[in-house]
Amino acid sequence: MNTVPQPTIYLDNNATTQVDPTVFEAMTPWLRDEYGNPSSMYSLGRRAASAIDQAREQVASLVGGSPNEIVFTSCGSESINSAILSAAALDPDKTHIITTAVEHSATVKLCEHLARRGYEITWLPVDSSGQLDLEKLTHALRPDTALVSLLWANNETGVLFPIEEISRITNARKIPLHVDAVQAVGKLPLNVTELGAQFLSLSGHKLHCPKGVGALHINRRMRFTPWLRGSQEDSRRGGTQNVASIVGLGQAAELAASHLTTEDGAIRNLRDLFESTLLRTVPDSVINGDQDQRLPNTTNIAFAGVDSEAVLMLLDEENICCSAGSACASGSVHPSHVLKAMGFPNDRIRGSLRFSLGRFNTAAQVDAACEAIPRIVAKLHRLSPADSPVVMAG
Ligand code: PLP
Repeated sequence: MNTVPQPTIYLDNNATTQVDPTVFEAMTPWLRDEYGNPSSMYSLGRRAASAIDQAREQVASLVGGSPNEIVFTSCGSESINSAILSAAALDPDKTHIITTAVEHSATVKLCEHLARRGYEITWLPVDSSGQLDLEKLTHALRPDTALVSLLWANNETGVLFPIEEISRITNARKIPLHVDAVQAVGKLPLNVTELGAQFLSLSGHKLHCPKGVGALHINRRMRFTPWLRGSQEDSRRGGTQNVASIVGLGQAAELAASHLTTEDGAIRNLRDLFESTLLRTVPDSVINGDQDQRLPNTTNIAFAGVDSEAVLMLLDEENICCSAGSACASGSVHPSHVLKAMGFPNDRIRGSLRFSLGRFNTAAQVDAACEAIPRIVAKLHRLSPADSPVVMAG
């Protein structure tokens, strides 16, 4: 019997986002007819350069900075690497870096690499709500601290760190602060001056732009040295610019700014409806992470007595997408380092799933997911309540 494929219900917007049709339209000429190199002097090149200038203004406007503070990169991970490596390279006597136990793998892997090269890394712990103890941050700061680098919004739980309070502490000690705002940009109002950070990373594919483009905001008073050298981006990032994607990022930034004002609250309402329905209909389900200081689109829920990978697979059969931990680390099968750092036992981590909503989700999709999830969890309880293995994509 032929079954009609069900339309996708995409509840994994922290992993990546659907490209907005307006972004796609804005990009197409730059993939087809407008193929000039933005460094070329003739008009074909100059048009590409001015398209990049416009995108720089659009991104600067979204973050509340100046266009000359924006450096385009290939992704959020590159932006993060650029900020941390610059701080590490600028002063060889400063060999201490502070970060947290719940960072994205781009930060974790780079800091682990730097630790092998002789840097001392302080991994600040979090409590069971995913929050930092700012006293511990204050005490960790040292004269040889090169940088504090931390998330604004956690990709797995959505928990927000209080960046303005953190920057007051770091700025008082004149220690630069890098904020990984990859999950926050486009979801929260943002003004880099108010945030007080010297560096801020963002990524296009979390903003309804295609993968392969990001940006780093560098405060104009901050010294910076690139690791990818070349003359482009004012010698701050080598490599001929990805014109089409940068144009897409500019368009996505402009759209994000307008959605923040016109649709503020709509995604939060859908998330809250989704979350409260599941907490009511799935026995013993609990939210992981601070419920107040949290992204409006994200919920990370622990379902008792199931293996999240099994739930994920059964949801996939119904074309419902979500995540067991961070999709950026999918393929690895170990408990989420974020939920571990929050002190949860393995069985709670094993049953935890992240749902992240976005611009294109509808109330009907939320209803459908709220019907499927309790049914699937109940089915798994009937099949094998206790013997599923402890596995979770990190
Ligand atoms: N930082 C956070 C918080 C993320 O969620 C991600 C991606 O999931 C990244 C950094 C890396 O961004 P990109 O995939 O653009 O390298």
